[in-house]
Amino acid sequence: MRNAENALQAAKSQGRNRLRLYAPTMGVNAFEKLQLKMALSYAAENDELELLFQPKVASESGEIIGAEALTYWNHPGQGRLSPGKFIPLAEETGLILPIGNWILNAACHQVKAWRSAGFRDFTVAVNISPHQFRERTFVDTVATILERVNLEPEALELEITETVAMTEVEKTMERLTELRALGLTISIDDFGTGYSSLAYLKRFPIHILKIDRSFVRNLPGDKENRAITKAVIALAHYLDLHLVAEGVENIEQADFLAREGCQYLQGYYFSMPISSRDFTQILSAGIGKEQGKSFVSKPRIIQR
Ligand code: C2E
Ligand code: MG
Ligand code: MG
Repeated sequence: MRNAENALQAAKSQGRNRLRLYAPTMGVNAFEKLQLKMALSYAAENDELELLFQPKVASESGEIIGAEALTYWNHPGQGRLSPGKFIPLAEETGLILPIGNWILNAACHQVKAWRSAGFRDFTVAVNISPHQFRERTFVDTVATILERVNLEPEALELEITETVAMTEVEKTMERLTELRALGLTISIDDFGTGYSSLAYLKRFPIHILKIDRSFVRNLPGDKENRAITKAVIALAHYLDLHLVAEGVENIEQADFLAREGCQYLQGYYFSMPISSRDFTQILSAGIGKEQGKSFVSKPRIIQR
């Protein structure tokens, strides 16, 4: 019966109305998944979740102006799992709600610590999953955390993906308006990969677009990507939105984006996601502060 169940799950996951015969790998996958699910439900209380931070850099001054928090799971048997490996599972099982609260809370504590240490204009961005964003109590949860941590709301940025923003747009609008009223910064993640209605983009109370890294790849050589990034830079400019380019891996990309007027850059060229401890060190070293106008003449922040 268990094997039949596995075959049924496989058939369903590939779309309905199809026939699948049981194969032993299905059982293994399902069993592993079940184990992973079980372990994930204890991950937060077992202190196995960890936030890593990837800097966002101002292209003009080279200064670190913020960080994106990315959640890793230090799995007791499997080592450090990247978010891509377990966030989808957390979403599928609904565990993303408690885990998401843990993440928000931890990120707020960290940015509070940095701000208290004198890094005043520093913001931390947290990725919000579709489930969280649509949850009825989400705005209250955020407000409560901010209050408990005693954090200025402008220190917190929420990233929601373009796809989430563009489904049920009227509801999105309502939700974003409530979040904005709290004083938070809101950014649209993976911009360009979904189907944005420009009419809504104009109306949404958002601050930042993050152009997806698939458009940054092979810049400036790739003709299509060059055209797309230039167009998005112009769009952001005329809509009065800030623009972050993600996935910047080399100086050619950074140089091109900076020259075209993209204000903020993020990617392995500057730094991989790093621990809060390492991040504090690079902040304390004041990297980017006293060095010339453009980052282009500088060495990268952190060696890979
Ligand atoms: P995202 O928000 O678009 O995050 C950026 C992803 O690009 C991260 O992958 C980051 O490590 C990776 N990246 C950064 N710079 C570069 C680069 O120069 N080159 C390349 N090739 N990749 C780069 P990661 O850490 O695997 O995260 C994947 C996705 O998982 C994130 O995409 C985000 O949607 C989700 N995620 C991560 N942390 C959380 C979280 O705390 N909560 C929720 N709900 N989702 C999260
Ligand atoms: Mg993100
Ligand atoms: Mg992204």
